[in-house]
Amino acid sequence: MAPKSSNSEMKIWRDGQMVNWDDANIHVLSHVVHYGSSVFEGVRSYETPSGGAIFRAREHMRRLLDSCRIYRMPFRYSLDDMVQAMVDTVAANEMTDCYIRPLVIRTGQSLGVGGKDIPIETFVIPWKAGAYLGHGADAKGVDARISSWRRPAPDTTPTLAKAGGNYLSSQLTKMEAGVDDYAEGIMLDSFGFVSEGSGMNLFAVRDGILFTPPLSASILQGITRDSVLVMARDLGIEAREQVLLREFLYTADELFFCGTAVEITPVISVDRIAVGDGKPGPLTLRIQREFLGIARGKIKDRHNWLTPVPQPALVGR
Ligand code: PMP
Repeated sequence: MAPKSSNSEMKIWRDGQMVNWDDANIHVLSHVVHYGSSVFEGVRSYETPSGGAIFRAREHMRRLLDSCRIYRMPFRYSLDDMVQAMVDTVAANEMTDCYIRPLVIRTGQSLGVGGKDIPIETFVIPWKAGAYLGHGADAKGVDARISSWRRPAPDTTPTLAKAGGNYLSSQLTKMEAGVDDYAEGIMLDSFGFVSEGSGMNLFAVRDGILFTPPLSASILQGITRDSVLVMARDLGIEAREQVLLREFLYTADELFFCGTAVEITPVISVDRIAVGDGKPGPLTLRIQREFLGIARGKIKDRHNWLTPVPQPALVGR
């Protein structure tokens, strides 16, 4: 289905109402603007042979509720309400293939830092999905560097929450990578072990085994990462969640990023050292095919990962 030609024509879900794109505004004194008090999700709807379908909607909304709980935000919607809000937003915008950004922010006006009693508002924003790491990155792979910025230490800001403030180090990582002509940066954790990219998790392959950093390496608990672990099990590929040394990335046979935006993207060099033979590897491409096959409804959805989006009736328009 053809998306609207401009953002202004789109609708945003704002606390139960579909509002015009240009009316989804907040005041400059909102707590979130000053103190970064936002939690959010990045979700994707895919076009399948039977219409739009949201990938792992429930798991994303569970993580949103978890983020609210961690930040003591009194969230008034249930997981089911939020899944429905996403379905309604995609349908109202007559989209099938799109990115969805649920967002919870403290919009009450206050310059006090403590956020507990500050009113919150919830939005669900549709966005046209694109190739996050550039056109063709999924097939060609990307060059990455180790960032000089680290993920937050466990006793600084909570990394299991998908909170706006956590993206300050991600911004620095992404900009630093761009300045030196890398597509992405890979952050280490506060102990110097491999953590993740600015907006994606990471897998390495060595001798046919998949390796990915554990939650204790200050990663976001990615839903695509979980999908890779489940698909690996289904395909009979051994996968280990294990602390990884930086140099393990240099000596890996294959490397790939995974996340809602990047999907499965091969990494072909780190710090200008070629990964394997410097081309996307066979296991990476196998996982990529399986992932996109399920998301796009071409491979059986064995684990009920897809939530269908009913298409608005075209009759009579
Ligand atoms: N890490 C970070 C920092 C992210 O922003 C994301 C994207 N949400 C991920 C990992 C991957 O998570 P997911 O697979 O749930 O999109």
